[in-house]
Amino acid sequence: RSNDTLCRQSGDEFAILLPEQDSSEPAGYLAEKIMRNFKEPFSLFGHTLSVSVSLGVAVAPNDGKDFEALLRNADTAMYQAKQQGRQTWCYFDQAMNREALEVLTLVNDLRQAVEREQMRLYYQPQVDLRSGRLLGVEALVRWQHAERGLVSPAQFIPLAEETGLIVPIGHWILQEACRQAMLWKRAGLDIPQVAVNISAVQLQHGNLEQSVLQALASSQLPAAMLELEITESSLIDKTDQVLDTLKRLKALGVRLSIDDFGTGYSSLAYLRTLAVDKLKIDQSFVRDLPNSADSRAIVTAIVHMAQSLGLTTIAEGVEEQAIARTLSELDCHEAQGYLYSRPLPADQLGELVAGWRAEDWAIV
Ligand code: C2E
Ligand code: MG
Ligand code: MG
Repeated sequence: RSNDTLCRQSGDEFAILLPEQDSSEPAGYLAEKIMRNFKEPFSLFGHTLSVSVSLGVAVAPNDGKDFEALLRNADTAMYQAKQQGRQTWCYFDQAMNREALEVLTLVNDLRQAVEREQMRLYYQPQVDLRSGRLLGVEALVRWQHAERGLVSPAQFIPLAEETGLIVPIGHWILQEACRQAMLWKRAGLDIPQVAVNISAVQLQHGNLEQSVLQALASSQLPAAMLELEITESSLIDKTDQVLDTLKRLKALGVRLSIDDFGTGYSSLAYLRTLAVDKLKIDQSFVRDLPNSADSRAIVTAIVHMAQSLGLTTIAEGVEEQAIARTLSELDCHEAQGYLYSRPLPADQLGELVAGWRAEDWAIV
């Protein structure tokens, strides 16, 4: 209509202002109409282009008495529409909105978490099953939120990946883990290596090579003391560029392990091409050892395959001595889990290592 306003808010965000709406044509009508129009591809300079649309609707005065509130709530509704799989639209709704708002504020907080120094690294020992020697630690991130307390990675890593924030956060994690490992080395603590989890998003868009090089250079940590943990699932839709990056990092001497192995359904050819060093057997196969015949069979198969490819195996989530014993019988090399220690802040991990007695953990 001639009295409607369409404006471009930013990059790919537009706002439509419909004044004095009459009830014969509610906003939902218009939303449907717009969605319909975008279903058809556009022709541009001989190319056929398709655009997907997510649309949120807020209605004054219920959803906001001024422009700012109205726009913010329309934005929230749009976010909901996106969550529902894009190519759809949503009315703003106070009740359903609470959760979306929660996510939005969390993302806003996350945006500032690194510069506010709220990210923490905890470290969990990795142990040689037979000898009980400490072989390294895995760095696990936590978020010390001002009001929420310690937030687990399961809660914010997916959000960080969705928003791309994992790239700066992941950069910080690499820097911090290398810095800490070098501090321990200088203090004479025997921690042969530190493993850092790398997200698929970092791998694909994060300029990972640059990030690793910087972390090694600024910490002076030898490349061989750094291990990157890549989940098996993040290698499923790997590109040549991702493979090249990983190969170049390997050439520097950085070590590579496959996290959550056995859950990712990926081709196994990459184990060779990437010269992977270690397979981390997923917790789900470890938990009910030694009772489950299925878990036993799976662990046996993984260990045998790793052996013939010259790879090391480590079992995650080892909580009981009986499980460690079974793993050792099955020729798995290493273990990590609550049996040895929960993930700890750097200073506590340092104390644990200083008092570490391999014979306490050796399986004879
Ligand atoms: P993950 O890399 O497979 O880490 C293992 C998870 O198992 C950790 O959970 C660890 O605390 C937990 N765990 C260790 N031992 C035991 C045990 O004996 N029993 C049980 N039940 N659990 C055990 P956390 O720290 O909550 O991390 C969860 C996941 O979040 C990680 O899985 C990893 O995928 C991701 N994550 C953690 N830190 C980072 C990070 O720095 N960067 C990225 N990209 N992802 C991270
Ligand atoms: Mg891991
Ligand atoms: Mg894992």
